[in-house]
Amino acid sequence: MSDRKSVKKLRKYLKKRDFKTTAEPKGKVAKSSRKPYFVIQKHDASRLHYDFRLAVGGVLISWAIPKGPSTDKKEKRLAVRTEDHPLEYANFEGTIPESEYGGGTVMIWDRGIYKNLTENDGKEKPLDDAIRDGHFAVRLEGEKIRGGYAMTRIREKKNKKEWLLVKMDDEEADARRNPVNTEPDSVVSGDSIEQIKEKAKNV
Ligand code: MN
Repeated sequence: MSDRKSVKKLRKYLKKRDFKTTAEPKGKVAKSSRKPYFVIQKHDASRLHYDFRLAVGGVLISWAIPKGPSTDKKEKRLAVRTEDHPLEYANFEGTIPESEYGGGTVMIWDRGIYKNLTENDGKEKPLDDAIRDGHFAVRLEGEKIRGGYAMTRIREKKNKKEWLLVKMDDEEADARRNPVNTEPDSVVSGDSIEQIKEKAKNV
């Protein structure tokens, strides 16, 4: 995706939100690229899910993963593409009024840097092209989630784009680990969803 396109998308996103009633950071369009990073935000909305976001081309390209990522290479996890978010959103942990778009309690469940592993004819394929084409692979260096992960688009209906997230077969693949269940709390604050909710009440 071109920078121009991402900026357009981001403006659309910003318009949707009323920043007077939400504690989210107001996004600015980043001009410089930093080391590519990702975040997985646990989002206690009407239905709990994990928002997987990759910083690409000045925005956070995003998917909602109902069951969260697996470390088992045999597990396929549904990931529904959602709106691009501003880069600053990667630092957000807290609550958003239920009345707002994306409302609920948000936790930074994992974060770190990533490396694009997508290749085309033995050369690295740019991630924005790969995402547009419906298949990419990245190596994630998070605190809970590490190693290669492949994402493949499986269905594309009007506004619903469904992908599958699969752990690649490498030294980090481990069917016995289940970080979604065994490491449920924030990598930033150590808080649980309930604690984040409580803190928001006391502000
Ligand atoms: Mn979400």
